[in-house]
Amino acid sequence: MFTASAEFIIGAVDLIASFLFLFGLQRMSSPVTASSGIGVAGIGMAVAVLASFLYALNVDQVVKPYLAQNIALAIVALAFGGGLAWLAGKRVAMTAMPQMVAIYNGLGGGAAGAIAGIELFGDKYDGAGQLCVTLLGAIIGSVSFSGSIVAWAKLDGRLKKPTRFKHQRLVNALVFVSTLAFGVAIINAVLGDALRPVSVSALIYVFFALALILGIMLTLPIGGADMPVVISIYNAFTGLAVGLEGFVLQNPALMIAGMVVGAAGMLLTLLMAKAMNRSITNVLFSNFGEVSAALQGQIKGELKPTAASDAGIAMRYAEKVIIVPGYGLAVAQGQQKLFEFVKLLQAGGVNVRFAIHPVAGRMPGQMDVLLAEAGVPYDMIFQLEDINDDFASVDIALVIGANDVVNPAARSDKSSPIFGMPILNADKARQVYVVKRGEGKGYAGIVNALFYDDNCNMVYGDAQAVLVKMIEAIRGLGLPAAA
Ligand code: NDP
Repeated sequence: MFTASAEFIIGAVDLIASFLFLFGLQRMSSPVTASSGIGVAGIGMAVAVLASFLYALNVDQVVKPYLAQNIALAIVALAFGGGLAWLAGKRVAMTAMPQMVAIYNGLGGGAAGAIAGIELFGDKYDGAGQLCVTLLGAIIGSVSFSGSIVAWAKLDGRLKKPTRFKHQRLVNALVFVSTLAFGVAIINAVLGDALRPVSVSALIYVFFALALILGIMLTLPIGGADMPVVISIYNAFTGLAVGLEGFVLQNPALMIAGMVVGAAGMLLTLLMAKAMNRSITNVLFSNFGEVSAALQGQIKGELKPTAASDAGIAMRYAEKVIIVPGYGLAVAQGQQKLFEFVKLLQAGGVNVRFAIHPVAGRMPGQMDVLLAEAGVPYDMIFQLEDINDDFASVDIALVIGANDVVNPAARSDKSSPIFGMPILNADKARQVYVVKRGEGKGYAGIVNALFYDDNCNMVYGDAQAVLVKMIEAIRGLGLPAAA
């Protein structure tokens, strides 16, 4: 048992860690304070790790003989995992961030599942209530682990197509019910002493295997464009699983961190579903994101290429310009050049604003981060609902590396797989320039009628290279800056 003072110190350290998590999260609610918020939450995590070491050092006699060995193992695991994460974090490209979020989220779920496994195999829970909570955490954590790995494989392009087969929902329901049945069997076996321990272990193995299969089966049929919502659902699952295992371990920092992540993940899920105008069940159980070949035939008009220099000069002489950045800007790493171009326009007296769609790019907030990285002031960046009505009164909309988020089919074409998703009204601007490399489709894999509109011209090329040409064209004019 702990001494009273050791218990007080560990409790206080846990409390500090929990406070830092909440304070960090609160700071993440605004782009201005977000990066310091991440730092604060990171310090919270270090403090929580310290609390775990203090706990281990003070834990009762049963564990004492293994203390040195356990601490050494924990330090090796921390150094290995921390080192790997640090390296990966340094190297990851901005465009690969969603995959990274998916895999780290999955590892969190896996860790919660592993804790549950240790509790179950080690017979460490305290009564029926804790056993049920452990099992619940085990299912949710395992589903999140295997589901997040499938999400990672999809986002990383390793799994290209949604996997669907006949009676898939029925099969999924069967796997789900079987997992629950094995959970109940474990409770019966343990509490009723109905089976010998070796059989209990067998039940636990099958239970975990089924939960892992469930995560894979649930994620396989979901189409690419729904991956952001799926990742945030699994994020919520991971938080919930961690919170439940925190309850089992009686670890307050784990409970609070888990519940905060769970609640934040759920809120993010709802916000993103709203941004796509889809219900969560629709995301999980309908076949969104399939290529609609029939759409191509319905499009009228033709693609009208224009030179980057002409588009650049037209913007220099415009009064108001709205820029819609998308995934392609992140691919091209064109954010610095874009801001250089914008500063040239502003020097000429052009009113320039950025319009951000909530799911532009491959991760919520990716465009905000990209623009912040280039130093674009926050007061130039507007979210969809704050700027959408203004497109009708601007001279030029510059769509750069974006596609799905400006596809008017979402507004009017009931047969389109993205029908109902709110889009940025770039097509309402007097003139639209779309910068992209060729005729590549967006993430949802559908054609975009905007590109064929009379008021739209295509500027083909890599976003960064196009911006360099636009900058050169404006500089070549040799115009003085506006007074
Ligand atoms: P899209 O994926 O719809 O379109 C991006 C466009 O950029 C492509 O059409 C491509 O055309 C062009 N492009 C690619 N590379 C370059 C380059 N180097 N230079 C210039 N253009 C380039 O992006 P949006 O941002 O419009 O939409 C995001 C989509 O991703 C939505 O469907 C959303 O649901 C989905 N999604 C969003 C997530 C999120 O959380 N934000 C997560 C996962 C998916 P071309 O090949 O011709 O150059």
